[in-house]
Amino acid sequence: MMVELSAPLRVTWDLPEGEGAARLLWRKLVEGRVLFVEMLVSSAGLPALNAIGEDLALPGGPRVTLTLSADLLDQLLNCGEWLSKVSVNILPPYSGDCGKLVGRVKEICLALWSTPEGLLEFEGAIGIAKELGWAISILNPHAKAVALKDEDRANAQKKWREAGEPSSVSLRVHDLFLSEALGLDPFASYAGCAGASTLAHLTHAGKLVACRTLPLELGDLLDSSLADIWKMEGRGRVAKVLSGTPEECLACSLAGSCGGGCPGLAPGAGLMDSSCAGVRD
Ligand code: SF4
Repeated sequence: MMVELSAPLRVTWDLPEGEGAARLLWRKLVEGRVLFVEMLVSSAGLPALNAIGEDLALPGGPRVTLTLSADLLDQLLNCGEWLSKVSVNILPPYSGDCGKLVGRVKEICLALWSTPEGLLEFEGAIGIAKELGWAISILNPHAKAVALKDEDRANAQKKWREAGEPSSVSLRVHDLFLSEALGLDPFASYAGCAGASTLAHLTHAGKLVACRTLPLELGDLLDSSLADIWKMEGRGRVAKVLSGTPEECLACSLAGSCGGGCPGLAPGAGLMDSSCAGVRD
């Protein structure tokens, strides 16, 4: 059943370059009482990150995870003491420098995108994660995302098996079919598409959209409050459509858990995830 909230619990955010916009949007996320914010930081966004850094550490605000390329770690380490209050997802290219973060941030995770190109980094991530005891998070990509093919999943599965499926490495995989291929329980933490329901994505330009994989616009956070956008009928309609199960999936034994998979990876609204091989008994 769809959860009705006064704001999303979790927001992914492409941090803007402008310090003023970053400050304003962060304040609105705090006022909206969002619990978790995953912030994608580019090199151009580092000054904006520094501008709001102290605010990220204030008690009572959202728990923050910064997602950024390993190339930026040296610059990140020059940020203030507030760094110890946030978690970091490190994107490739991975290097031995990743270890510099140990003891400086709350939690470290190796991240890669759930795309054919992103998964090419899986082997490197497994090597470092095994050595340092870190988790790996395979993130849902930005639109327009291409559904993984059988060969992409098979390659990832091969790398995971060749590494001995190390129990010391915690794998977090959003893509249901990739998760299944890697021997995880795809439904362990999946209750259907959360876009526009418990999750939203905030773009560089301040637009609030359903999810970074399916950027259906919900409102402009620069002009409105999060609570006002969340109250809008249009937002509720989008959440309802995304949390529904496509008709073509109703005969499937997994329909209740899977809900048709990711609507952002479907060929059209109300259709099933292109990664799905078809209805199961
Ligand atoms: S559209 Fe829904 S299922 Fe797909 S990545 Fe976004 S939240 Fe997840």
